[in-house]
Amino acid sequence: TSTVGKPTWVAAIDQGTSSSRFIVFDPATGDIVAITQTEFPQIYPNAGWCEHNPEEGILRSVEYCIRETCRKIELETGFKAKDVIQAVGITNQRETAVVWDAITGKSLHNAIVWLDARTTETVASLIERTPTRSRDHFRSKCGLPFSTYFSAVKLRWILDHSSEVAQAQREQRLKFGTVDSWLIYQLTGGASKGVHVTDVTNASRTMLMSLESLEWDSELCEFFAIDKSCLPAIRSSAEVYGTFASGPLEGVPIAGCLGDQQAALVGQRCFQPGEVKNTYGTGCFMLHNTGPSPVVSRNGLLTTVAYKLGPDEKAAYALEGSVSIAGAAIKWLRDNMGIIKTANEINELAAAVPDTGDVYFVPAFNGLFAPYWREDARGTIVGLTQYSTRHHLARATLESVCFQTRALIEAMNSDSGHPLVSLKVDGGMTNSDLAMQLQSDILGIRAERPLMRETTALGAAFAAGLAVGVFQSAEDFVKRTTVKADVFEPRMGASERELKFDKWKKAIERSLGWADT
Ligand code: ADP
Repeated sequence: TSTVGKPTWVAAIDQGTSSSRFIVFDPATGDIVAITQTEFPQIYPNAGWCEHNPEEGILRSVEYCIRETCRKIELETGFKAKDVIQAVGITNQRETAVVWDAITGKSLHNAIVWLDARTTETVASLIERTPTRSRDHFRSKCGLPFSTYFSAVKLRWILDHSSEVAQAQREQRLKFGTVDSWLIYQLTGGASKGVHVTDVTNASRTMLMSLESLEWDSELCEFFAIDKSCLPAIRSSAEVYGTFASGPLEGVPIAGCLGDQQAALVGQRCFQPGEVKNTYGTGCFMLHNTGPSPVVSRNGLLTTVAYKLGPDEKAAYALEGSVSIAGAAIKWLRDNMGIIKTANEINELAAAVPDTGDVYFVPAFNGLFAPYWREDARGTIVGLTQYSTRHHLARATLESVCFQTRALIEAMNSDSGHPLVSLKVDGGMTNSDLAMQLQSDILGIRAERPLMRETTALGAAFAAGLAVGVFQSAEDFVKRTTVKADVFEPRMGASERELKFDKWKKAIERSLGWADT
């Protein structure tokens, strides 16, 4: 084929909690060239548990999206996808734990998803074993409190509950990884020649990595009784890890890797200390770039690696507020309650009433993450009267996400000492104009929503492009990809805002302690 007019594109696999996507971008503008997205099954074996099938769910959905997108590109351009895509980045749901056998390359257990709360007792017994009996015992080293959320706690649970996995560890054929590791390993060839790596951002969500050294920490590995031989090598977020072993992208380098929230921070171009973004997907995650040194929170936020854009580059760190249930509460109205048929229908329902009629919904389905860190919380709806309808509940569901975000901002403001004046937003739930208006009202600050909403994938595609020289630097990326955004300004009066938030805090109190541990 002729190379005249041959495009130079970069792409990203975005493996999220509820769906997978493969997106190709034009690096000259940051615009989407082609995209395929597919939902895959959630497995709920018990109350509070959530699993994904590593092969049939995670890997197959990714392979499907790649195949479909490449087919579209070949049809439209006449070029082979592998000739126009220079590099692929991976961004992924974080903390979700996968274990597999190094000899067969097959998974040994379903992936335990980040929001799964089965490890409540594991958390209690781990805290009990620390000299200080404190949830925050390792916070200064790894940036994280003990919680059901983080991967090492999940891996500990699997080792304690699956004799097959424990035996694989004894025989040194166990491989552990978060979803990025699992995908890179499989896509670069699996058991025969797959590369077993992760990046610093994903590693910073395990509880096993030191934030200072950016290496697996011996004290932490010993504490969790996890043999370092099963852990992936920690690499930067932008370098060539390997190439696709087969399929339509055979030979194309996998060259970027960032946890989804860190990728959104990059995709939203928050490269300066003090810049903040909030992503509303299954959960809701606010990240605040704090620059080249880790800052430990005094207000229940996490300290995490934001990115390390090359093997020889310095890492940047972030403070993070994580909320486990945001868009997932809308899915719950759809799938469990049957109040809506599609996520988008919530907006019409909620817009039909001017307020929630004093109804508050705390969707603490699996406990509460930041800034509370309470495994014992469960969901609650308060303020119901004879007058309440599904319209009020729909509106209260949207508001619940906005109130949770407000609690994160208060924690951030008090950690940083600089009140935030505007918030960059993205993620599936930002499709809702009503939710974003409510968000601005409840925060009392402006919300800025980029027209190109796939910022997570863009961040990972940028990292991959940087590694192979399609982008020269972060500045180059910012310059080339100017953002147009919708802006939502607060319309609610200050006294109403404060009154509502006070009520929300009361609703939170009522959700605590329900699932006594
Ligand atoms: P993830 O990366 O966690 O899989 P996404 O960023 O794809 O999540 O967002 C999916 C979430 O967005 C779903 O939980 C869904 O409820 C919510 N969502 C999608 N479309 C809309 C909409 N039009 N209005 C409100 N919420 C929506």
